[in-house]
Amino acid sequence: MKPRVLLNDFRAQWRDIRGAALEAIDSVGESGWLVLGKHVTLFEEKLAAVTGVQHVVGCANGLDAIEISLRILGLKPGEPVITTPLSAFATTLATIRAGGVPVFTDVDESGLLDLVALEKLLSDDAQPFRFFLPVHLFGHALDLEKLGEIKERFGLHVVEDSAQAILARSNGLQVGTVGDLSAISFYPTKNLGCMGDGGAILTNNDDFANTARALRDYGQTKKYLHAYIGLNSRLDELHAAILTHALLPRLTLATERRRAIAASYRSDIRSPHLVIPPAPHRSDSVYHLFPILVKQDRAEFQQHLHSHGIDSAIHYPVLIPDQPAMAGQNSEIRGTLLNARRFAEQEVSLPMHAYLSDTDVERVIDACNNWREA
Ligand SMILES: *Cc1c(COP(=O)(O)O)cnc(C)c1O
Repeated sequence: MKPRVLLNDFRAQWRDIRGAALEAIDSVGESGWLVLGKHVTLFEEKLAAVTGVQHVVGCANGLDAIEISLRILGLKPGEPVITTPLSAFATTLATIRAGGVPVFTDVDESGLLDLVALEKLLSDDAQPFRFFLPVHLFGHALDLEKLGEIKERFGLHVVEDSAQAILARSNGLQVGTVGDLSAISFYPTKNLGCMGDGGAILTNNDDFANTARALRDYGQTKKYLHAYIGLNSRLDELHAAILTHALLPRLTLATERRRAIAASYRSDIRSPHLVIPPAPHRSDSVYHLFPILVKQDRAEFQQHLHSHGIDSAIHYPVLIPDQPAMAGQNSEIRGTLLNARRFAEQEVSLPMHAYLSDTDVERVIDACNNWREA
């Protein structure tokens, strides 16, 4: 029997990184220092160099990275934060934890926030919005030049949720360099996934970086001096060492592999029953996911893939404002969310990771093209 084509292959990753990872673990053990030490500092420096921002502050996960970023920008209790209904729930959860009120606006045909519609909303609205939390979904970059213009024109505080889009560019600009702060996640499935939970806050602002360092560590500015009501959201030395020595060195090649797989999917999937959504204007995407839209009978399509030994997933089956947890929450919807609903109803994510073989990719393409064509 042929092996299954997996959505993520953590065992293949382990076989690849094992030597480097074991050495990294050994060096943390030998250092005798386990939390917020030299491995975290070194990782932060390396990641800053790779992402083109001045400061990287490691923390416990992507959710905290977003919450900390919003708090640094002075989000007030009950203040609206414009964001997307189509994302990991963490995007909105962080907003609510930081005291904000999510305001959902629709996505465009790529599945990312519609910046043109947003500009119109901001121009028309009497109530001035101060906060914007866009998501570089699926590994696509939003049009960053446009985002920068909107930020300037309306005086917005912007936190970029870059959890899915490390190294993605828009017309040469890296994600995370236009917002005041940017949040990334090292959750295992992410493009730079670690062996557990991890995250980071990125910023070019010295003061923001200092506040982030305090907030991740009980709000301490000096040992036992608490300037803020902070969190315990530290990145472990173990994760930092494995990231630095085993995972970060493979990120560029892994990203190239994702792009090559995406190019094959794009050129060779030709089923009349499937639609491949475009990337946003000028996005040089890193393909965290590869979303397709199934015009009808999505469950049957997934079953067809499954019977051909191919795993698939849905990102996301329930829009954030429709989640049960949102029922008792203060939130707002602006516009119809029609495009977002189309993704919720039709989207399927095909296998996408750096350890897919050419044969795996061909199997996925064949299974897509064979559906209902037999
Ligand atoms: C994964 C993810 C998060 C949350 O990251 P965690 O590290 O899991 O807390 C936030 N936003 C998006 C878009 C994500 O994909």
